[in-house]
Amino acid sequence: MNSEFVKEMETKLITAREEILKKFISESEDFKRIVNGLESKDFGDIAADDVATKKLEAINRHESIRLKQVESALGRIRNNHYGVCLQCGKKIPEDRLKAIPYAVRCIDCRNETERENRRARA
Ligand SMILES: [Zn+2]
Repeated sequence: MNSEFVKEMETKLITAREEILKKFISESEDFKRIVNGLESKDFGDIAADDVATKKLEAINRHESIRLKQVESALGRIRNNHYGVCLQCGKKIPEDRLKAIPYAVRCIDCRNETERENRRARA
């Protein structure tokens, strides 16, 4: 894979990682606000706050999955495995990597995975 292109993707991934981390920090401030708000309340109110906490956890989970994807893409760059489909071993097209720098599957394999997920959900 073209090393200049990989370098460009690496920069993108590092930026994405910084953005996710910044988001984590601002969310944990929201979290602190929720927790601080709990002190003077009785258990009835805590249940409502619990919903807010769970919502925040869901956002964090989503972001932490993305963070892991970004981290593993950076790892693949270091190991010279970047841009290779994890499933079939073919090269992932540069256009796809431009859109999703942490993509681990080519479009064919991604579509297949999505079809399977849909089937599992149905
Ligand atoms: Zn593939």
